[in-house]
Amino acid sequence: QVRVRFAPSPTGALHIGGVRTALFNYLFAKKNNGTFILRIEDTDQTRFVEGAEAYIKESLEWCGIEPDESPWKPGDFGPYHQSQRKEIYQKYAQKLLDEGNAYYAFDTPEELDVMRERLKEAGVANPQYNAAARMTMKNSLTLSAEEVQAKMDAGEPYVVRFKVDPKEEVRLNDMIRGWVHVHGSTLDDKVLMKSDGLPTYHLANIVDDHLMKITHVIRGEEWLPSAPLHVLLYKYLGFEETMPQFAHLPLILKPDGNGKLSKRAADKAGFPIFPLNWNDPESGELSVGFREEGFLPDALINFLAFLGWNPGTEQELFSREELIQAFGIEKVNKAGTKFDVEKAKWFNQQYLKSTDPNQLAETVKNDLHAKYQIECSETTALAIVDLLKERVTFPHEMAPNALYLFYAPEEYDEKVVRKKWNEEAEKAVTLYANALEHQDEISPEGAKDLFFTTMEANDIKAGKNMQALRMVVTGEGSGPDLMAIISLMGGKAVAERIKYSID
Ligand code: GLU
Repeated sequence: QVRVRFAPSPTGALHIGGVRTALFNYLFAKKNNGTFILRIEDTDQTRFVEGAEAYIKESLEWCGIEPDESPWKPGDFGPYHQSQRKEIYQKYAQKLLDEGNAYYAFDTPEELDVMRERLKEAGVANPQYNAAARMTMKNSLTLSAEEVQAKMDAGEPYVVRFKVDPKEEVRLNDMIRGWVHVHGSTLDDKVLMKSDGLPTYHLANIVDDHLMKITHVIRGEEWLPSAPLHVLLYKYLGFEETMPQFAHLPLILKPDGNGKLSKRAADKAGFPIFPLNWNDPESGELSVGFREEGFLPDALINFLAFLGWNPGTEQELFSREELIQAFGIEKVNKAGTKFDVEKAKWFNQQYLKSTDPNQLAETVKNDLHAKYQIECSETTALAIVDLLKERVTFPHEMAPNALYLFYAPEEYDEKVVRKKWNEEAEKAVTLYANALEHQDEISPEGAKDLFFTTMEANDIKAGKNMQALRMVVTGEGSGPDLMAIISLMGGKAVAERIKYSID
């Protein structure tokens, strides 16, 4: 039975990288008839952000990535908030202490700094609290039992550290990266329990993955350096038999491929799902989200699926069901993947074409009303959708692009004025206006026929003056089918518009 989890920490908005991790877990679970679990990793109280959990929930709902088990849909493995599982972690920390695989450490932050400085001066590039360093520090391996007890009785703050055996050889077979070998001597004696009595990410994560019977850990590459430590934790906690398989997803890079897409850059470029409803402490700005930008959830999902995965064929458009069927960890790349917002827009455009026109018409109607105080009928809204949906990227671009149906333009395309506007053009559109005036109801074909016959009767080349006609009607030099626009506006209104424009 496949069981996978998405384990975000509620420390801010859910960004695109997080959604990609959630999506790959979801696809993997669905593909294998497994269970997708959401666990909130909220043991770091200093980084807790009010509202972040609700944000995660809403974002996933909007994307349609619904967990089978979560805090708001508990299964048999709860609670799903780490903050509600404190006693559980204490028990396992105690087991490690009792068996000599962890120890108490009383070092102050200043003392730790001094230790690191000293090691740096001695030429150690990456100073660690390891087997050698620990012997010079204040911990239960260097102090007597009485000294340890005395410090605890005096209320001195302490942490529990993992005791890494420097002779350990850690091997793990990552599903994406293959074999990873790490020497115990390069690992840090990581803190497992903090002085506030809460576990660190490392301990809580391993204990919960074990207790929640997680079979595969699919997460971002930034966690790869922690994986060897996790393997050791599984071993010393006696969970080796049921250790999950690891799959570390490739980094998401900036559009130019130059470096990692940082959270901060992501905020600025508008890559969370919704706008942040709190100020980003780093940027001090509010950002726009994918949803407000007008991305359709299915388009975004299709786009995200390709951030690191590809089907091995030319096909790019995948329905959700097709994604599930085509997905496989073996098709995930090792190399970092570029985040290209233009590609996301391309997906959106493709999905817009197949979106229910009635739904889009609703958006057009609402936008016209809210932004321009224009009341428009269902039929007109549908006609606008028909005219514009293949020409825009986002639904909200339709209303502003349809304003000429309601108002005479205030400006005229300069290039057309310069190149196409002349005596003949003026005569052509005037003649057409006169002919149209009495044909209020006119089909696109009728409008076209009328234009051509009128021009022919007056010895004017129709094609040569078509752009001038578009300009006097819409103000623009190009756009959707002009005859459909004329039909939609009605002959009378178009005739008036033409006369107004040439006045
Ligand atoms: N809480 C970690 C995070 O915020 C989870 C990492 C993992 O999946 O192991 O990303």
